[in-house]
Amino acid sequence: MKIALRIDVDTFRGTKLGVPNLCNVLADHSIKATSFFSVGPDNMGRHLWGLLRPVFFRRMLRRRAASLYGWDILFRGTFWPGPVIGRRLAPVIRAASDAGHECGLHAWDHHAWQARIDRMDGQAVRSELEKGFEMLTKITGRPPVCSASPGWKCNDIVLKEKLRFSFAYNSDCRGEGVFRPLVDGEELPQPQIPVSLPTYDEVVGRNGISDENYNDYVLSLAAADAANVLTVHAECEGIVCAGMFDDFLKTAARKGISFISLGQFLAEKPQIKRAIMTRREIPGREGWVACRAGLPTANGRIEEREK
Ligand SMILES: [Zn+2]
Repeated sequence: MKIALRIDVDTFRGTKLGVPNLCNVLADHSIKATSFFSVGPDNMGRHLWGLLRPVFFRRMLRRRAASLYGWDILFRGTFWPGPVIGRRLAPVIRAASDAGHECGLHAWDHHAWQARIDRMDGQAVRSELEKGFEMLTKITGRPPVCSASPGWKCNDIVLKEKLRFSFAYNSDCRGEGVFRPLVDGEELPQPQIPVSLPTYDEVVGRNGISDENYNDYVLSLAAADAANVLTVHAECEGIVCAGMFDDFLKTAARKGISFISLGQFLAEKPQIKRAIMTRREIPGREGWVACRAGLPTANGRIEEREK
């Protein structure tokens, strides 16, 4: 069984501490993954405080959000402008790329994208993508080969704007199975690789899932005949849950599971179907995320189960 592994890097702290840790643990297990970097200003503190509605606050307390994210992340970009990650931590990003991990663009400003995507027109989306693309190209010495919308916030404007860039594929949504998105009846050339497995923060603390049984739970969701794609976060699996993630990789190895980059995963796909992207709420995550749906049927409805 194979699992395609994607590392999302959202913050200054995640880049500085989480990325080197993950590179070390992945080297120990001889794994090459795909890393999606945020390279612009880290204003994620604003994002986290913006989520301080009562439900989220209870969850934060339960999960010790400060220890998960770190106080510096919680305040990043709240009282003073966030540092530009790619300017301060270029060597860390370059080292990950030089270590052979596939390098993709996550965001210029992760917080701004998540907060404003519904109000961003093509020009605004293009500007965010261009700034991130240029910075990442400068850092690693080659253009990023793929991209992943922050928080799985993607829409048709984003899909169309991404065609201006040399991305071999994008990973902007949740669901299962590689597909080419249909927008206004037109099949776009850049394939989508949806994330099929839940993230740590989505499942821990719900339905009896804890740090003790999280690894076994996620591995139980992966299936030999499924398109398994897992996202880990530099802020989580690279720092607070680093020991747990090492155990995860050891357990997976014992079960004969191997990990590959998303690019490798795509290369092994003989054929790619068409599907449309829709937005849904998923358990454990605030707000909507883009999801793979099926194709429109003759009566205009979406066939949800098409894989
Ligand atoms: Zn992210």
